[in-house]
Amino acid sequence: MPMWNPWHGCHKISAGCKHCYVYREDAAFGASVPSSEVRRTSSFNLPLKRDRKKNWKYPAGTEFALCFTSDLLIEEADEWREEIWEIIRRRRDCTFFFFTKRIERLAECLPADWGEGYDHVAIGCTVESQVYADARMPVFLSLPIKHRLVIVAPMLEKIDLRKYLDPQRIEEVSVGGESGKYARPLDFDWVLDMQAQCHEACVSFCFHQTGSYLVKDGRQYHIPREHQHSQARKAGLNTRSHDKIQ
Ligand code: SF4
Repeated sequence: MPMWNPWHGCHKISAGCKHCYVYREDAAFGASVPSSEVRRTSSFNLPLKRDRKKNWKYPAGTEFALCFTSDLLIEEADEWREEIWEIIRRRRDCTFFFFTKRIERLAECLPADWGEGYDHVAIGCTVESQVYADARMPVFLSLPIKHRLVIVAPMLEKIDLRKYLDPQRIEEVSVGGESGKYARPLDFDWVLDMQAQCHEACVSFCFHQTGSYLVKDGRQYHIPREHQHSQARKAGLNTRSHDKIQ
């Protein structure tokens, strides 16, 4: 899945941002511009790139992961976002996915022809703790979106999503831990509990990564970065209740 990062940089807005990987990676690579400064990148038009034969560089059916080093709905990018919607409209042969901690801004950021949502766009609402779940989920469920995903990452505590898990409106809940040296640990029991909630509600579930520190049966394990996704997959918790975005 290609990453399409039309802008880079973000400012922290909630508990899950504490050890944000954008800041961490910028620091590791000695970024000359502060991570909190939001700027357009050279990949702004990525989905429209052509090869030497003038064909799309990214063929029909490509799934783009959008804005993974910022937030699509951040205020600083308001003046650029309409161009992004235009690119997404031009590439209706592809699918696009982004997640956000600013779901309360979505309504004011949507294009005029959004209607009930674009068929080829999936939106993930991030809920890292109960307080953010209770603040963001009612807003998320009230918005016109064709494909809704819930991103529980970095999961900071046990979270009860039962009253929000409507299988007609939520396609998947995806859980992950926090990465990095100072990561907060993820308790495997929280993950199992979330899987059970999804199973009960007939909503697809994905444990996408363990984070750096996983607590299981009272012991804390350090999981190296390169194994965090594979270790989560090995737990065998993923369930799919319906088809992915068409
Ligand atoms: S919203 Fe996402 S990208 Fe922005 S600071 Fe928080 S974790 Fe980082």
